[in-house]
Amino acid sequence: MIKIINSEEFSYFLRVHRNEIIKIWMNKSEVQNVLHRHSLPVIEKNTHLFYQFCDCYISVIEWRATISECQIKIDFLQLLNHYNVTVADLFTLITKLKNAIEQIIFENGNLSFALHSEIDFLTLQMANDLASNFENIISSNRNYKSENSNLLAEYKKAVDLSNIVSKTNPKGVITYVNDRFCEISGYVRDELIGKPHNIIRHPDMPREAFKELWDTIKAKKSWNGVVTNMKKDGSQYIVDTTVIPILDVDGDVLEYIAIRHDITELEETKQQLRNINKAMKHKVDELYSMTNRLEQKAYKDNLTGINNRENFDDICSTEMRHSKHNDQPLSLIIFDVDHFKQVNDTYGHQAGDDILIDLVHLIENNIKNGDIFARWGGEEFVILTPATDEAGAYNLAEKLRKLVQSHTFAYVGKGLSLSFGIAQFTAEDNKRTLFEKADGALYEAKKNGRNRSEVYHP
Ligand code: GH3
Ligand code: MG
Ligand code: MG
Repeated sequence: MIKIINSEEFSYFLRVHRNEIIKIWMNKSEVQNVLHRHSLPVIEKNTHLFYQFCDCYISVIEWRATISECQIKIDFLQLLNHYNVTVADLFTLITKLKNAIEQIIFENGNLSFALHSEIDFLTLQMANDLASNFENIISSNRNYKSENSNLLAEYKKAVDLSNIVSKTNPKGVITYVNDRFCEISGYVRDELIGKPHNIIRHPDMPREAFKELWDTIKAKKSWNGVVTNMKKDGSQYIVDTTVIPILDVDGDVLEYIAIRHDITELEETKQQLRNINKAMKHKVDELYSMTNRLEQKAYKDNLTGINNRENFDDICSTEMRHSKHNDQPLSLIIFDVDHFKQVNDTYGHQAGDDILIDLVHLIENNIKNGDIFARWGGEEFVILTPATDEAGAYNLAEKLRKLVQSHTFAYVGKGLSLSFGIAQFTAEDNKRTLFEKADGALYEAKKNGRNRSEVYHP
């Protein structure tokens, strides 16, 4: 049975058996000669160069790039330079071998390489060595594989089925994507392999987020976080991502494996909840201010904005209790606009409204802070004056009366007049009797010719 292995299979072979091949090669006298010529002892560091080169070679084949164009080769050269090594010998050693192998023949359980006829002796020798050692490599690998391969395959299958998986080389170039990766990103495999991983970077993702990722994985630590990626069609998907650096025997990063879960729905639901929360908060705020306004409405007179009758009732009860308790005088003034009906009849109801508002402002600005001013109804108002006896209240009424009389109102101009009734609260009074007294005095004021103030007398 003959098996012809193509270059991809050969690179796979190199990848799988890399460690063993390099160990064998490092013991070859030719290799040792090369190292010796460059005064390089066979130490770990040099093994490392072979590893690197093998990786380069594998990558080159996989990327279908030529070696001379390959960035990784340049990196490799720099690396060699760093160690003060001329690459020529190392380089030709392996490329010659690669070029020399035309076929790898596996026959009756034996493996041999079919080589170009024009191959030089040194390379031929190496190829033969490799071939003769292959049996050992296979058998040592076979034991390892049979123990672990089933389990590993199962793991790989489980991971592939349940996750979005990709691999990159140390430079972040994609070397592997599983089906789910293709599915979610909307790319086909060929569009991804060999491309920088940031092909799926979403422009909304902050650069710092990736800096942290790279800092972590370059330090050979795993990184976990939530990443927003971009599909081929420009839409986004959100993934919970773990990136694991895979190290070679020297502890250097060989590749990165990224395993992701799609959490787009979860994140979008979270965002929706945040939006709903915000909207609800807005509604609650609205309700609060509405309630506030309603409360205000319940206490305030619609037209003039001063206390309404209900609110005045409450305040009045409190002030009466307060007056009794502190043995302080308290007086009530009721006033009514004289002949207001005529104003309405002459200038219209709207003009009447405007005049009432103006009147309220005038009064408001000329009473004490502690005085309580309210609209009793129509063009009738009340003022409750704590710590003020009937004489004081009378003076206040007279002051306001004169003020109003000399004030120039819209429409009517000067001469609008008020009539006042005043009563002082006594220990025997309740709210009803106090109002009756003040109202009685107002009636007297009207009867006695209007534009005047009368104090209640029994
Ligand atoms: P007087 O008090 O001097 O006896 O005469 P008057 O014309 O003012 O008579 P009365 O107090 O009985 O009538 C009040 C009038 O005030 C009746 C109504 O047309 C008017 N009025 C009451 N409330 C309002 C109001 O909110 N806006 C307007 N524009 N007019 C009102
Ligand atoms: Mg009136
Ligand atoms: Mg009236």
